[in-house]
Amino acid sequence: MSANNVFDVAIAGGGIVGSACALACAQRGLRVALVERDTLGSGATAAGMGHLVVMDDSEAQFALTRYSQQLWQRLELPASAEYAQIGTLWIAADREEMDAAEQKQAWYSERGVPCRLLTPRQLAKAEPHLADGLAGALLVSEDAVVYPPIVAMEMARRAERVGARLMVGHAVTEMGCGRLLLDDGTEVRATRLVHALGADPARLMPELPIRKRKGHLVITDRYPEYVHHQLVELGYLKSAHSTGTDSVAFNVQPRQTGQLLIGSSRQFGAEHTEVDQQILSAMLARAALYLPGVESLSAIRVWTGFRAATPDKLPLIGPDLKDPSLLLATGHEGLGITTSLATGELIADMLTGQPPAIPAEPYLPARFAQARTTD
Ligand SMILES: Cc1cc2nc3c(=O)[nH]c(=O)nc-3n(C[C@H](O)[C@H](O)[C@H](O)COP(=O)(O)OP(=O)(O)OC[C@H]3O[C@@H](n4cnc5c(N)ncnc54)[C@H](O)[C@@H]3O)c2cc1C
Repeated sequence: MSANNVFDVAIAGGGIVGSACALACAQRGLRVALVERDTLGSGATAAGMGHLVVMDDSEAQFALTRYSQQLWQRLELPASAEYAQIGTLWIAADREEMDAAEQKQAWYSERGVPCRLLTPRQLAKAEPHLADGLAGALLVSEDAVVYPPIVAMEMARRAERVGARLMVGHAVTEMGCGRLLLDDGTEVRATRLVHALGADPARLMPELPIRKRKGHLVITDRYPEYVHHQLVELGYLKSAHSTGTDSVAFNVQPRQTGQLLIGSSRQFGAEHTEVDQQILSAMLARAALYLPGVESLSAIRVWTGFRAATPDKLPLIGPDLKDPSLLLATGHEGLGITTSLATGELIADMLTGQPPAIPAEPYLPARFAQARTTD
């Protein structure tokens, strides 16, 4: 093994999370290696929607998403990253959902997140292609969108410019005790390792509490100005929270090209990459309820991807329970684009002994130690 292959930190996985970790660590002066099997920003990062969204499931989820959002606002990106603060419209179909929107507005306002309620008339003016008869919406104006694979590539390249070594086209076949073994026999040694392999850690670490959660997305032809905000039904939260069944929800994003990204679906136990026609039809039917004209738009591509879901819907960020050389940075489910930047900063804080900007405890893998010992 050459001395050139010895680092302070070696990161396995060059999706958006691994790339964010590489950049944050390299910027703190650590000697970094980033190992990616395919291309930088592949995996779920290439399959994701790129909605940068503040969420309120729990205080811990809010802290991570809001911290990330503020980091996104500070990150200077090239135009090709398509970062745009277009805001999220959480759409209420009826009075009950409008009550939920009002509660959400109060909760966010107490925590300093700019947001406001829209009446049905204001909503129709903001988004003329939405269906008639909706009850209103909550506009969360600092939510944004981005093109994730470009950002992952950009962060990895920036890390390289401050000294990181990118090892692309190499699969990690063994990981642990300060060592990554690559598929060509190369050994990479580092004081600390970071696992950023997304939803597919099973072969390397089958004991992690992560399940693959499949999602479908559709992209249309170009329809500029058809939609202006990220549109999400409030019922999306039921879909995201469900753990047992397949679910779909209305979730549409306008891209800068004028294309629309249409989601979303969630499935456990479907580990093949093929498009599931039933789920796709259900997802498009749901979209047509809110955006009736969607049925006449041409779709140009459909694809699937896998979220890495943990039992408590929070990621695993921090030291592994067994291997003191290893930190985990995975399990981000449907929020890993949003929370990649905060994850990178928390990992860099842990590696350099600096105090984190938000408490790291809720994301530590140690929270599953109790569950594991009582299994
Ligand atoms: C349909 C869908 C829509 C989504 N929409 C959003 C959204 O709007 N907003 C949001 O915040 N999040 C969204 N997500 C979630 C988000 O995409 C993920 O949480 C995020 O991309 C996870 O990033 P990652 O770097 O952890 O994993 P990945 O992007 O999967 O990266 C892991 C990397 O590891 C590499 N790898 C795997 N095995 C090896 C190995 N043995 N050796 C070396 N490299 C390896 C892979 O090639 C890959 O590049 C969505 C996900 C899906 C599926």
